[in-house]
Amino acid sequence: MSSHRPVIEKAAKAIAEADSIALACHVGPDGDALGSMLGLAIAAVNAGKEVVVSFGSPFSVPPSLSFLPAGLLVPPQDFPDAPELMVVLDAGSADRLGDLGSNASDAGTLIVIDHHVTNEGFGDLSIVDPAAAATGELVYEILRTLDWKITPEIALCLHTALVTDTGRFSYSNTTPRTLRIAADLVESGSEPSVIGRYVYEEEPFGYLKVVAVAMDRAVLDRELGVVYTWIGHQDLGAIGLDWGETENVIDLLRLAVEADTAVLAKVHDDGRVKVSLRSRGSTDVGSLAAAMGGGGHRLAAGLTVEGPVEAVLERVLGAVEDHR
Ligand code: AMP
Ligand code: MN
Ligand code: MN
Repeated sequence: MSSHRPVIEKAAKAIAEADSIALACHVGPDGDALGSMLGLAIAAVNAGKEVVVSFGSPFSVPPSLSFLPAGLLVPPQDFPDAPELMVVLDAGSADRLGDLGSNASDAGTLIVIDHHVTNEGFGDLSIVDPAAAATGELVYEILRTLDWKITPEIALCLHTALVTDTGRFSYSNTTPRTLRIAADLVESGSEPSVIGRYVYEEEPFGYLKVVAVAMDRAVLDRELGVVYTWIGHQDLGAIGLDWGETENVIDLLRLAVEADTAVLAKVHDDGRVKVSLRSRGSTDVGSLAAAMGGGGHRLAAGLTVEGPVEAVLERVLGAVEDHR
């Protein structure tokens, strides 16, 4: 049980009393964002609520998460401008909602369910528990509080949230509570092998080619203890891959044992550079990212900035030592 009981009870009450609920998660959704959002959404539909679910553009579900029951998803332009009750999942700040940020500020009541240390505490009810391995853990607790049935579909969604945010239950955020919830979700009908296959055992052939490009460009700065590289939209275009299919590249880069910090810059065609950061423990990449307008956790974080990739990487590398 988290120490957030009072606010969880309040949020559960607001959800139980609402006739309609609009849900959104962070842009470029991962397994936790989509899984926690869809799990709560399906449970709300089962409880007789009118439900709208979306995330900011680009509106596309990564193929590795295509197994999730996403039938409730609507494009962001179909999302109500000023929902009566809006629930935001896995987003540390309103700007992480992309084009749904203004809907959140115009919502009658805004509930934020999240586990980022960098969460700004926005919303009318803010359930932010950095001790939770995934937002999915907090949704689980809300469903238990509401006494809403966890169907196999809901179990699969929440289990995916846990699996992806804990690196298959291997990162330091994995707790006995995480594993107990996972056990309960498997008991409720989630199949571990489905998640394992889609998320970790399948990539399009082009992924291997993009990995080859990224690894060929990788640089190890032994003195700084940083490994870094970049991928550009031209690389993806030439190979025919989408950004959503590059999620796992950082997990290969960070294998370099000589480095405490791994930095992957993704250069989008609109000039924005999205930087993923990972740490083995000596660097607080969450605070590094926050200092550059991004956010995340101690060991996994990200930020988005403009600029030539060389300059961006130089800025990030220059900031590393301030966060050790
Ligand atoms: P990623 O590198 O995209 O897998 O993200 C790692 C962690 O950092 C996740 O918890 C993200 O929610 C967070 N994160 C990534 N990009 C940003 C950003 N631009 N602003 C705030 N948090 C971010
Ligand atoms: Mn996330
Ligand atoms: Mn998360």
